[in-house]
Amino acid sequence: MELYELTVHELLEKLEKNEITPEDITKSYIERINNKEQDIQAFITLLDKEAEETAKNIEAERKKYEGIPIGIKDNICTKGVKTTCASKMLEDFVSPYDATVVEKLKDEGLIMMGKMNMDEFAMGSSTEYSYFKKTKNPWDLTRVPGGSSGGSIAAVASNMLPWALGSETGGSVRQPASLCGIVGLKPTYGLVSRYGLVAYASSLDQIGPATKDVEDCALLLGLIAGHDKKDTTSANVDKKDYLAHLKDGVKGLKIGVPKEFFQKGINEEVKENILNAIEIYKNLGAKVEEFSFSMADYMLPIYYIIACAEASSNLGRFDGIRYGHRAKEFSSLKELYVNSRTEGFGDEVKRRIILGTYVLSSGYYEAYYKKAQKLRTLVINEFKKGFEKYDVILTPTSPTTAFKIGEKSDNPLEMYLADLYTVPVNIAGLPAISIPSGVDSNRLPIGLQLIGNHFEEDKLLQIAYAFEQAFKFREKYKPDFKK
Ligand code: GLN
Repeated sequence: MELYELTVHELLEKLEKNEITPEDITKSYIERINNKEQDIQAFITLLDKEAEETAKNIEAERKKYEGIPIGIKDNICTKGVKTTCASKMLEDFVSPYDATVVEKLKDEGLIMMGKMNMDEFAMGSSTEYSYFKKTKNPWDLTRVPGGSSGGSIAAVASNMLPWALGSETGGSVRQPASLCGIVGLKPTYGLVSRYGLVAYASSLDQIGPATKDVEDCALLLGLIAGHDKKDTTSANVDKKDYLAHLKDGVKGLKIGVPKEFFQKGINEEVKENILNAIEIYKNLGAKVEEFSFSMADYMLPIYYIIACAEASSNLGRFDGIRYGHRAKEFSSLKELYVNSRTEGFGDEVKRRIILGTYVLSSGYYEAYYKKAQKLRTLVINEFKKGFEKYDVILTPTSPTTAFKIGEKSDNPLEMYLADLYTVPVNIAGLPAISIPSGVDSNRLPIGLQLIGNHFEEDKLLQIAYAFEQAFKFREKYKPDFKK
């Protein structure tokens, strides 16, 4: 077994016993990157030389996580290293400060291996909307890894990184995790600081871990969670010990299954797989019950109205003056704004800005934006009712497995459908995890989604862990880089 094949908790065990050094780990991953990055295209900025240097200088008396590599999505600010958001607008942007999560990881001694590819400004579900490159799915190089955190997720799935950080607005960690056969978590809104995360839709955004297994997910969440006074929406709650109940099993726990999530638009093989996963949970002693989630049909409209409205406002700061791309030719201030934005933003970003400006404009504000906000409250209430009865809610993560590169990139509505099951979670600010639950007849991974109540990540991880141990996906299936 190569070191790059191990999970972080397995690496930590070996470090503890002095069987390996941090330098061995870094070397192993860099070798893997040299072998696979050409095919996968996950990194926007690769920091292999810096990582090697840092690892070399780690002393024998080290902190627990010192020397463990990590990848950071390129919309999370890193001092002295470019943060591009995969946009021409920020092609040369270097942040003067670290995001809080990055600061925390550095304090623990983790080594930043690089900045990861993504859809421009995190808008997309396939990582095809990056200005720089298209990341490939390690299970089939002709297919997308999902998005928008496709670089982070594909790098972990192909063992180029032991783990990574992505960001979520409507599913951008869970959906690619599902399409690439790894674990992805979207924490409760407010649990992880957004300070230094370039804003897409502030009321929905949250940074989340992408890992090889559930235990690593619990570890990484523990490293990044916690109150931050630099983020006014950060929740003032104590973070939990996410490992404490990991192995407690699911006996007697109640799982709710919303029947509307198994109807329109779902691929038959995905549906069959998730129904099978439900049987596994029953065999493990969980009580599973079907219920009705009446708001299901309104999720995408609510999400895309709110997300675009907030995006149009957040992206107003890119004006060609303060930072980012500035047009060379202009004859007035207005033209400087217009030309800089026209040149700096890609089509999908422009589409969102136009849509967002429209739903916020006088005359349409009441009809769209305000209505979406009212419906958002109803969604929150409907989940609340669900959690009075159930410990978690179980759904597929994505209605389909990985699609072909180019299959949906010219059809925004088709692309938006990829988020059908993930956006409700962001709308309600809940935590949710995607774990691999099998493969389809093309040997493409399928993901199972578990949604928890606010700040109940510990229970979510416990229930996810039970399935993982029973199913053993990582032992059964490995990506084969099919061309
Ligand atoms: N695909 C969704 C969108 O484009 C979600 C993106 C995300 O979670 N960042 O808005």
